[in-house]
Amino acid sequence: MSSDKRPGRRRFLKIALATTGATAAAGGGGYLLWRRRPIEGAPIVEDRPGYVHPGARVETRRRLGRTGLDIGVVGIGAGGLQGHEPILRAVDRGMNFIDTSICYGDSEKVIRRALLADKSLRQKLVIATKWDPGTTTTKKEMLDSLDKSLSRLNVDHVDIMQVHWLGGGHKFPDDGFNRLDNPELYLAMEEARKSGKVRFFGATSHAGKRSAILQHAIDKGAFDMILVKMNVLDHEDADIPALLAKARDKDVGVVVMKSQPGGGRIPKAYEESRYDIYQANLRWVLDHPEVACVVESKIGREAAYQDLAIAAVQEQLGRRDHGLLDRYATALSPDYCRGCGDTCAAACPDGVAIDHVLQFSMYDREYGWHERAREHYRELPAPARWSDRCATCSACTDACPYGVDAASGVREARARLG
Ligand code: SF4
Ligand code: SF4
Repeated sequence: MSSDKRPGRRRFLKIALATTGATAAAGGGGYLLWRRRPIEGAPIVEDRPGYVHPGARVETRRRLGRTGLDIGVVGIGAGGLQGHEPILRAVDRGMNFIDTSICYGDSEKVIRRALLADKSLRQKLVIATKWDPGTTTTKKEMLDSLDKSLSRLNVDHVDIMQVHWLGGGHKFPDDGFNRLDNPELYLAMEEARKSGKVRFFGATSHAGKRSAILQHAIDKGAFDMILVKMNVLDHEDADIPALLAKARDKDVGVVVMKSQPGGGRIPKAYEESRYDIYQANLRWVLDHPEVACVVESKIGREAAYQDLAIAAVQEQLGRRDHGLLDRYATALSPDYCRGCGDTCAAACPDGVAIDHVLQFSMYDREYGWHERAREHYRELPAPARWSDRCATCSACTDACPYGVDAASGVREARARLG
């Protein structure tokens, strides 16, 4: 890699200069951009293994915008549920928000088993699920999807119904905005609310353009909350501060997903501090007062991660976290595709959907979502997955401003998912 290809080298200098004042203005809640030069004389921070506070609970609640719901700052991501016991354990430890989807395999059925195992659970748990309408999906199809969710969950209503994964590439052609412009969506929302089957509505995105997409959703005036990917790696570049500001101004609640960049990938030499990184990432997200809750799929599966998350939120983000995150983010940067798309896409002569391809491959590699990753990959039109030129080309790698080896990623995706 030439020196000019190091992650964001030219932008680093530009942003460092531009943000020195902005960061100070942001106050204690603002995180220094990871590309900013380390503060002169800052102490070298020693890593330590992750820690837990036995018996601790998630006591802190935040209001989810105009829904008025009070939810624990750590919630259950239901993307990879394997059994219902972790749900009961998490609720017992103070978590009261669960995020599922019609697209998460058997997830809604697993939640049903938890509700059957503890009859008082429904009263304690805020259930958010998702439907997945495209640009031409009808009101009837959406309401049918809602009824199927209610049936799988065995409940008479859900607290929140969200639009699944705007800009995800899995409902080609989905630019993130066009699905929000389907008038049938708002008719379905109106009817679902009137029938009492849904209390509130939300929109979700983890696309590179998620800030603009979800601001578009907020501008529609019909959504009470958003679920958004947010982490230290591309917070400023993805324009998340503008999204948070708009959500705050409109009193739209914010729940964060994917706080662990790249599916929790840990860069080489940071293996020993991975739990600390997990905890620091959660604290960093919650250092933003607009965020009501951070959901995490490992919390839905593993007691160890529940305990780490509970312990993480017993403390405020501190100088030690900043030091660790700064170094970790710098090390992870060349392995982390932000999904920003435009630069590599402009360099590709054959129109491969590089951002989506790399994301689906990450699902397979980091999350172990093998079936879902394959399914999404195959939903892309064939020319958007692969070109014969990819065997030898490196134009997208050369174009990526962050130094991501996108061409190798496209080849890896074909080997894994093709
Ligand atoms: S490869 Fe680079 S330019 Fe392309 S989507 Fe990923 S981070 Fe963005
Ligand atoms: S390696 Fe493939 S995806 Fe990347 S620029 Fe070349 S043809 Fe496009």
